[in-house]
Amino acid sequence: MSFETNRRQFLRGAIAASALLAAQSRVLSLNYERRFAPVKVSRDRVIREVVGLRPYRAEGFVVDAERVGSKLIVHNYGHGGAGMTLSWGTASLAVDLLSEPGAIATGLKRRPGRTAPHFAVLGCGVNGLSTARTLQRRFQNGPGTVTIYARELPPDTTSNISGAHWSPTTVFDPEIASAKFNEQFQKACRISNRAFQLLAGTEYGVRWIETFELYRNEALLAVDLPGGNDLYPAIEVHRDPDHYFGFPFVKQFSTMLIEPSIYLSALLRDFYIAGGRVVVKEFRSHEEIMRLPEPVVFNCTGLGARALFNDQKLGPVRGQLEVLMPQPEIDYCYLGRGYMFPRRDGIILGGTFDHDDWSLAPRAEQAAGILDVHSEIMKGLK
Ligand SMILES: Cc1cc2nc3c(=O)[nH]c(=O)nc-3n(C[C@H](O)[C@H](O)[C@H](O)COP(=O)(O)OP(=O)(O)OC[C@H]3O[C@@H](n4cnc5c(N)ncnc54)[C@H](O)[C@@H]3O)c2cc1C
Repeated sequence: MSFETNRRQFLRGAIAASALLAAQSRVLSLNYERRFAPVKVSRDRVIREVVGLRPYRAEGFVVDAERVGSKLIVHNYGHGGAGMTLSWGTASLAVDLLSEPGAIATGLKRRPGRTAPHFAVLGCGVNGLSTARTLQRRFQNGPGTVTIYARELPPDTTSNISGAHWSPTTVFDPEIASAKFNEQFQKACRISNRAFQLLAGTEYGVRWIETFELYRNEALLAVDLPGGNDLYPAIEVHRDPDHYFGFPFVKQFSTMLIEPSIYLSALLRDFYIAGGRVVVKEFRSHEEIMRLPEPVVFNCTGLGARALFNDQKLGPVRGQLEVLMPQPEIDYCYLGRGYMFPRRDGIILGGTFDHDDWSLAPRAEQAAGILDVHSEIMKGLK
């Protein structure tokens, strides 16, 4: 057989094969639809019930510095329902305050022959840990420069109770928040989003996940996602109740889901590796704080700041979670009247927000209500 005949046969074969592939991929794309494994919602699958108090201020979180006597106090508290989400952002903004002119006067700038600056961080939830790590990274001065003082350590902080879906939501009341706060909020969202992206993986327990916002009201589709649409890749709108939980309007986007127990342990480990020190201590008064040896104190005490720094604008927003047996096959989150986050340590069902309610006891009627809401949503999957 001549070279020319071989070439023609080869080309005919290649054309036929690529036509077949094209036809197959057309069939595949026509048949593609997102499949949702159902969440098995039932009382006998509940492995734990937890209640936490979100540290909420209608005016928004406080990231600010004040001089009290010879000390510089830098506040970083009041993150409401998004303390995990915003943590790296507000930590960065809080540490930035050290470069303001007044801060330099406290002797923060290292000069030859002087000891390294040293800092106290009050609180060992996500905001204390992120602030402490940010200080270590910005002032690479070796061991002993950052000490965390806290009453509770992970796993006993509010941060451990967080649903830990990356979404800067329920942080402030937009009717009340100032322009200065809005600017800080926008910056914090973006800094934090970038920081969490770099931690994705099993070591920190951070992963990307598709999330579906379920609406009955079409007008809600036009509302931006929390913090701004630019924070979320792959936004899509669906008007197909047969495939999307029985809801006529659904907004899909991707964001990150954090496993608090893995994540907070990893931060604490990183803090120790970098030479950090932890002192378990409860502060009962402002004066006790003033007696600390460190000239600069970061206040990351969450709801504790209400009593310690007399901030009456800070209050609890109570949230109850029902946690079901883990289901590794669930690869999506949804948000509607309640929310569902499929974590490794359990399927988190939540969505209660009780303002000014300090009770940490789970309520049977709320448990029943949460399970009902999610059973209904699952019925929509047909
Ligand atoms: C049910 C629920 C669901 C949530 N879901 C999400 C979510 O999906 N995404 C998200 O981003 N956020 C979520 N949050 C919000 C998030 O959990 C909080 O915003 C965050 O945990 C606040 O962190 P923090 O470090 O400021 O406070 P905390 O975690 O409360 O830490 C405060 C620290 O300060 C210490 N402290 C306080 N007072 C004193 C004192 N007097 N003396 C010594 N130490 C003191 C404490 O012991 C602790 O170490 C949720 C919260 C709840 C309750």
